[in-house]
Amino acid sequence: MQFATKAIRAGQAPEPATGAVIVPIHPSVTYAFKEIGRPAAFEYSRSANPTRTALETCLAALEGAAHGLAFGSGMAAIDAVLSILRPGDHVVAASQIYGGTHRLFETIYRPRGIGITYVDGDEADGFAQALRPTTRLVWVESPTNPLLQLVDIADVAAVTRPRAIPLVVDNTFPSPYFQQPLDLGADVVVHSTTKYIGGHSDVLGGAVLTGDANLHAAFQFYQNAAGAVLGPFDSWLTLRGVKTLAVRMRQHEANARAVAEFLAAHSRVRRTIYPGLASHPRHELARRQRTGYGAIVTFELDGGREAANEFVRRLRLFVFAESLGGVESLACHPATMSHASLTDAQRREAGITEGTIRLSVGIEDEGDLIADLTQALN
Ligand SMILES: *Cc1c(COP(=O)(O)O)cnc(C)c1O
Repeated sequence: MQFATKAIRAGQAPEPATGAVIVPIHPSVTYAFKEIGRPAAFEYSRSANPTRTALETCLAALEGAAHGLAFGSGMAAIDAVLSILRPGDHVVAASQIYGGTHRLFETIYRPRGIGITYVDGDEADGFAQALRPTTRLVWVESPTNPLLQLVDIADVAAVTRPRAIPLVVDNTFPSPYFQQPLDLGADVVVHSTTKYIGGHSDVLGGAVLTGDANLHAAFQFYQNAAGAVLGPFDSWLTLRGVKTLAVRMRQHEANARAVAEFLAAHSRVRRTIYPGLASHPRHELARRQRTGYGAIVTFELDGGREAANEFVRRLRLFVFAESLGGVESLACHPATMSHASLTDAQRREAGITEGTIRLSVGIEDEGDLIADLTQALN
């Protein structure tokens, strides 16, 4: 089955008892045993739930993974992966990662005795040099938020594979439609399904997908033990969202390309960052590593914070809000929103200025989007 078919059919066969074409929502928390020691296919919903299993099967198929688990949020999924760490273990992470992941590393895991080294994601050599005998995970995200830095996943996998260190890729931004990390040599993929997979900004969730049975067993043990599962209603809503992932991503990208080209040519815009533009420093890598460039476009306005504020106040169609990946177009100001917890120096170092705006380009009419940006910039 090809991607668009899997999104609609994997894990979603008609229900045998009633013939229902759509996977039912199974709210039951408990399932009848046949006799002592003989449970039915399910026992208790924290351990497994049929609606969640359908979603997990579908997401695993979309990432080319043998195993999938769905969690109550992207952060719960990330925490489940980190749960394999023990005091004394070490992680090498790209320096540009989701702020919540950085917070989890620094405020929860480091105080528990986990060492973390951050390296520039641009350099596979940097990952090799940062490894220690105790390194238990390597963590990357590509592209990064909000500056869309790309990590060469195959190059990093060439460092981690021979040493049998699991390489984890947060694949939320490209979605499995545009990037398949397991094919590139990664061992584990995590998602905030809140973004493109759910796709409608109406359900929070996360997922962990892997082909490694031992890692999966460890994540599953932790999921059942700690309990941050995705509920049956939210599993169903996510499943409903993922069915249209392929068509949504195609339209997202077509719109994003038009927006990026418009911004790149605009006199008030100092620079436009989009992996699909030839001006992106890793455009060649994006072409090689991905099947599309995605729908996040970041740009920098002349005039700093005042200009940025004027721009967001004038927007009529783009909504000025956090998050990304929904059908509606959003604009965010990273310096005061997603990256507000960084110090000024950290933001400068990361290249996030007061004039930086990140767009999550939705699937509305392209002309309407360009018209909104045109009036907001004038
Ligand atoms: C949003 C996001 C997360 C966190 O997911 P939640 O569903 O908000 O918990 C993790 N990684 C990336 C790249 C994200 O964009």
